[in-house]
Amino acid sequence: MKNRKRIQRIATTLVFAMAIGLFGFVGSGAGCNEDTSAPGVYIIPDWPYDLADSGGHVDYDSNQSKYDDYVKSGVKVWNAHRAGTFRPDDLSVVGDVRITDVNKPGNGWTGATNLTLGAIQLNSAYLDDSSSYSTNNIKHTVYHELGHTLGLDENNSGASTSIMRQGKLTNITLSADDKASFDAAATRY
Ligand SMILES: [Zn+2]
Repeated sequence: MKNRKRIQRIATTLVFAMAIGLFGFVGSGAGCNEDTSAPGVYIIPDWPYDLADSGGHVDYDSNQSKYDDYVKSGVKVWNAHRAGTFRPDDLSVVGDVRITDVNKPGNGWTGATNLTLGAIQLNSAYLDDSSSYSTNNIKHTVYHELGHTLGLDENNSGASTSIMRQGKLTNITLSADDKASFDAAATRY
């Protein structure tokens, strides 16, 4: 049963990722998991929920990504709400998420998070097309994928300014929904 859930999780994260890419929002029952008992809270409903370790940290390694600066600025945005959640990986810390780049033209997604593998992939085939993707579009992709590692789900029916809203957006600050979702997700760390 756990394996089945893993497979579903991978499939779901790929759907999420596709929706961030070329197509804006791709309608899917897999996204938009609002906790109806807590309006504005969008957290991943199935195991694995997040990439936080037993200490409640997400240790990241983005040294190999050309978007490293955006990872660092995104980490600051999330940590400003819950200090110290993201921490840079180093030789003495086992990483929880590894962020790397791929170049996959035509595959329909700009960023993908795999909670089973502990990985974020950023797709330079789209993100490096400066005629189509602004700096803030790239930041939104990176910040959004970081949000998934914290256990946050897509938020397409709540605050439109949310980082966790899908689409080619420039939302790079936490909405009230993002903050409430982060707080709710953190109770599971
Ligand atoms: Zn997403």
